[in-house]
Amino acid sequence: MEVMNKYWTIKTHIEDAPKEDDFYLKTSTLALSLGPGSKEMIVKNLYVSIDPYQLNRMKSSSSSQKTGGFAVGITPGQEIEAFGVARVVASENPEYEKGDLVVGVVTWAEYSKIGSNGMIRKLDPMGFPLSYHVGILAFSGLTAYAGFFEICKPKRGEKVFVSAALGSVGNLVGQYAKLHGCYVVGCAGSKQKVELLKEKLGFDEAFNYREENDLNSTLKRYFPDGIDVYFDNVGAEMQEAAVANMNAFGRVAVCGVISEYTDSGKKAAPDMLDVIYKRIKIQGFLAGDHIGLFQDFISTTSDHLRSGKLCALEDISDGLDSIPFAFAGLFRGDNIGKKIVKIAEE
Ligand code: NAP
Repeated sequence: MEVMNKYWTIKTHIEDAPKEDDFYLKTSTLALSLGPGSKEMIVKNLYVSIDPYQLNRMKSSSSSQKTGGFAVGITPGQEIEAFGVARVVASENPEYEKGDLVVGVVTWAEYSKIGSNGMIRKLDPMGFPLSYHVGILAFSGLTAYAGFFEICKPKRGEKVFVSAALGSVGNLVGQYAKLHGCYVVGCAGSKQKVELLKEKLGFDEAFNYREENDLNSTLKRYFPDGIDVYFDNVGAEMQEAAVANMNAFGRVAVCGVISEYTDSGKKAAPDMLDVIYKRIKIQGFLAGDHIGLFQDFISTTSDHLRSGKLCALEDISDGLDSIPFAFAGLFRGDNIGKKIVKIAEE
């Protein structure tokens, strides 16, 4: 038996901001009969994650691609990997049966073939919606948790600044920081987002960076006593302004530099004398390096979700067809919270 499978791919490498017509939908037949003992599986995708880092995989070259594994370059025509939740429809892997729910690396497709060494595991939804296992209870959540607690090492009462604060990772960093007793300011790209940060998520302050023309003075205004922790999602001039406003022994967790992904000419150049004389620690990190924290992260986060102390902010589009628009929207600031595409009914 076979199924017709639709999957997205790129027409050519994408070097700057992605557009919907950089992608095209390919159709192929997928055999549901797998080689006996092959340990392969076919899964039907239910939800897939839409993430900024995927753009760096779509470029003809990017230093990130040298990391290997999940970051390697994508060739035009090839399927596009993504984190997702799926249901097994055929299995030659003795650990999985038809009907099992799984979570892990699938593709922007109706169906994905999972190889014997596929990064996938069985999913116990723990009473939460399946979409949570693509975002808040998956890598976005772990990124926020590990980046904030492990890299920033925050102390109660410290002053924390978060950029792209209403995005998938940023909104959680701000919420964890509030629960930890910090003073939190976030920035985002619209008035509506600023209101949500303050009114829905309990940030102490928030501002629309698009309305500011001198970020250094903006941050001075919001942090008259300086910044202790900066969780950087955007890079470039925001990072420079944050470093200029850091206190002695401040920590900067460089999670992402999204403003640099679409503009190769943009690079953060923080004042190194500030870094030296204020003994600032600037550290990049990858969530995957902190998988050891996963159980701790899941139990803390699910407790907070059940008690209502943490809000799951999701932005879900419907249907495989919506993927290019959803992806391009990340770089326009369309999304409010974790961007997810629902591919099929549960
Ligand atoms: P996201 O924040 O949900 O979505 C991207 C947001 O970035 C947009 O909504 C937009 O919000 C903002 N943005 C887009 N272009 C911008 C620009 N030129 N300048 C300033 N802001 C811009 O995405 P996410 O998944 O949470 O990822 C956030 C960052 O973390 C990204 O840099 C990503 O690559 C990184 N990341 C790193 C790891 C890791 O392991 N290190 C893991 C996951 C994500 P506005 O309306 O505020 O502009």
